Amino acid sequence: MGKHKEWRKIVKRERRRRIRTQRAKERDFNFSYTDEDQDLLKEQEALELHRIEEIEKQNNIENEKWLQAEVIAMEQWKKIQIKKEMLRQKHIEQQAKLKLEWEIEKQRREKEKERLMKIEEENRKRQEIFMSNLEKFLNGDLTQLPEELTVLYETRPDCDECPFFVKTACCRFGDECSRNHKYPGISKVLLAENMFGHFGLENANSNEYDTDIMLEYEDSDTYKDFKNFFDDILPEFQKFGKVVQLKVCNNFEKHLRGNTYVEYADIHSAVLAYRALHARWYASKQLTVRFCQISSWNNAICGLQTRRRCPKGRTCNFLHVFRNPMKPSYDENRHSERQERSSRSWRWSESPERKPIVSPRRSSPKRTDKNDERYYRHRDRSRHESRSYRSSHRKKNS
Ligand SMILES: [Zn+2]
Ligand SMILES: [Zn+2]
Repeated sequence: MGKHKEWRKIVKRERRRRIRTQRAKERDFNFSYTDEDQDLLKEQEALELHRIEEIEKQNNIENEKWLQAEVIAMEQWKKIQIKKEMLRQKHIEQQAKLKLEWEIEKQRREKEKERLMKIEEENRKRQEIFMSNLEKFLNGDLTQLPEELTVLYETRPDCDECPFFVKTACCRFGDECSRNHKYPGISKVLLAENMFGHFGLENANSNEYDTDIMLEYEDSDTYKDFKNFFDDILPEFQKFGKVVQLKVCNNFEKHLRGNTYVEYADIHSAVLAYRALHARWYASKQLTVRFCQISSWNNAICGLQTRRRCPKGRTCNFLHVFRNPMKPSYDENRHSERQERSSRSWRWSESPERKPIVSPRRSSPKRTDKNDERYYRHRDRSRHESRSYRSSHRKKNS
């Protein structure tokens, strides 16, 4: 029996221990915080919540900012695209415009070429008729001068006559001039355009006020060469008849530069000279000789130049001429003696080819109304100054 008691004791003790453990577990399980703890917990929860809210808020703000930046970027991109498109369109338009202009220019050039060819053809025909009439005239076949030999050509028959052309037989605008240029068929005066070519003239300073340095210093190279030129050409011109006047221009203006005017005593001599010298070669240049009408040398030659007072200087549109070393009508025999003395015949050469120069007309700078005004104004002033100089001069003398 003792053993049973022992065993019961153990069982009871075990049961108590189990209950204790169980209760402890239950106690642990049913642990309840104090109010203070509860508040703390709540506070912590609220803080956590607030933190999360703050983060979300920040995120939203960032998000918003990003969206706005995105919108701006999009707008900018669109603007750039529009600009690019505009530039592209502009480029296309410009290309089209350039192409159009090029086409127009091409057409214009073709038309101009046609026009010039037509003019050249007309001139060639006119020249042919002119030359055949000239031959008839020289052979004495013509009882009356045909119209082609009295007036060869008028540039603008309906317009006023160009005052420069009337006086000097030259005009800076050539036949583009807005006024009429009347070319005579034949006349006593021949003009060899730009015949006296000289380095001093080609390279003269157009603005130089002192107009005729070469006249003032008669031993200047240009003047010396002019004298040689004079001695060289005069006998050649005299071969065809009596030369009564010979004038060589030292103007700077291209339409007058080196122009050489020769007046014969009679028309027959002039025609012979024309036939022989037009298109002939001189000093490596093919001569363009034409008949011209100079009714008064005093009107053709700048009145102020002779007194070295021309304000236009080398750019004057009236003739500024070299002072001839002697009268062209000088006795021919004596002159040839002089020639022998100088024993020179420099530049006359047999023409390498006698290809006739067809157009009696020269190329000219484009005429503009503005140029015209200045040009014609100059004419009036120059004449006026010339006159006023003369009258004041007269007064002084009287
Ligand atoms: Zn003119
Ligand atoms: Zn002048």
